[in-house]
Amino acid sequence: MTDPDVPAPAPDPASVTGVVFRVERFAVHDGPGIRTTVFLKGCPLRCWWCHSPESQSPDPEILIHPDRCERCGTCLTVCPNGAVVEENGRFVTVAARCEACGTCVEECPCGARALAGDRVTVAQVMEAIERDVVFFDESGGGVTFSGGEPLMQPEFLAALLDACRARGIHTAVDTAGMAPWEVLRGIAAKTDLFLFDVKIVDDERHRKFTGGSNVQILENLGRLTRLHGDIRVRFPLVPGVTADDENVRRVAHLVHSLGLPGVDLLPYHRAGLAKYARLGVEYRLPDTGIPSGMAVKAIAERLAGLGLQVRIGG
Ligand code: SF4
Ligand code: SF4
Ligand code: SF4
Repeated sequence: MTDPDVPAPAPDPASVTGVVFRVERFAVHDGPGIRTTVFLKGCPLRCWWCHSPESQSPDPEILIHPDRCERCGTCLTVCPNGAVVEENGRFVTVAARCEACGTCVEECPCGARALAGDRVTVAQVMEAIERDVVFFDESGGGVTFSGGEPLMQPEFLAALLDACRARGIHTAVDTAGMAPWEVLRGIAAKTDLFLFDVKIVDDERHRKFTGGSNVQILENLGRLTRLHGDIRVRFPLVPGVTADDENVRRVAHLVHSLGLPGVDLLPYHRAGLAKYARLGVEYRLPDTGIPSGMAVKAIAERLAGLGLQVRIGG
């Protein structure tokens, strides 16, 4: 019998769980050196250009490769929740009924179904990270926690950062900055480097193209700047959305006025578009082309002219 006067023991931090949708080894664009990037699922924003739409929902979800599906109907038969339905000859998943049990993925004879996201423990993630410690040590690298928005899983992220710190592994948190300040402040105490996205300074345009206001994001960036000594701003260059003269000017002014040393320019690319079809979600920038090398160089020169260190590609 438990004694009500004795507090329950604190849970083992290694057993804290969270939802991860990818672990990428040997990453070279997510901070210094060779890194392992751990992608946490869930994001409060819905950027029109997002390259990882499978990162946005906080829960594991089913991706379908329509080109591989041979319409055998097995997924409809085996789903214990009736979450697969046939619509106009296609077998689609009703997200509200899907519990991500993985049965349809295992039973699909064509490899047409996949699960994006897995609930894992801190210990499991650390086991994957440990394999690359030798590369971190040789290259001055470490681990980057990205997403989605890693701040959406604060307890899991904090436990991962503590585990890395205990192991002497350099950490970076790649964030869009949209979280309560108390969460960000807590994470800041455990993080070596922040990669902080600044997308659009005009709030109305930010709301339109990301689905959320930037007020909290910019406040957080200002407060974080006063608290933390290693912040790198990341600026996605999306033609017609973020890369216009006015926004470039305002981003440059913001970074300069905060006294931050530099900006990483992330030119728009179209990798990841196929994932929208796999999720059955519309891509909202179907006609946007990648920016030319000259256009990116011109923006880089403009920012460098203000005394900022500029890197292309992060
Ligand atoms: S089990 Fe696979 S191949 Fe068969 S209908 Fe479902 S997705 Fe298509
Ligand atoms: S993952 Fe499980 S619950 Fe979801 S559609 Fe497949 S079988 Fe059904
Ligand atoms: S903040 Fe990043 S992960 Fe979230 S929707 Fe925007 S691009 Fe995608």
